[in-house]
Amino acid sequence: MKKIITLVLAGLLGCNSCTNSLKQPEVIPPLSKQESPVVYFPKVINNLSFVYDNLKREIPMCLEGLIIGNKVLVTDVKLPFIYISEADSASYEPMSCASQNYVGMVHNHIYDVSDYNCIPSKRDLERFENDPHAIVEAIVCKTNRKTDSAKIRTLIKTKK
Ligand SMILES: [Zn+2]
Repeated sequence: MKKIITLVLAGLLGCNSCTNSLKQPEVIPPLSKQESPVVYFPKVINNLSFVYDNLKREIPMCLEGLIIGNKVLVTDVKLPFIYISEADSASYEPMSCASQNYVGMVHNHIYDVSDYNCIPSKRDLERFENDPHAIVEAIVCKTNRKTDSAKIRTLIKTKK
């Protein structure tokens, strides 16, 4: 049975009113200190921070990577064929992500000062669960291209 676990930002779930914890900046640790089973290569963080910085609509991107042991190394991102891109939703052609290195999808949620909005929607979770090739689902909710950083909530499928 597949189970989805939240790797980071667990404290933000259902936490729309706890503004103090929402204001804590999250720093992506260097790879050597990265303990999460999902590791983003610097090129991926760079691409996410430049594409999503100040973007006012959602853009889906395909994640490519390698699975080594119980780690997922996300090595690249690629734009799929996009049908719709709005402030709170987007749609794309899943087949355009098809690749033997495909590991899942990433998209952005529009940053809002009162709420990091880093929570996957019901639709995001359903799409992730129904995608047999996806291991990782990532949501980028804040970026800073000047510091080349991105706040990412990463979900991963694990086998029970
Ligand atoms: Zn979403």
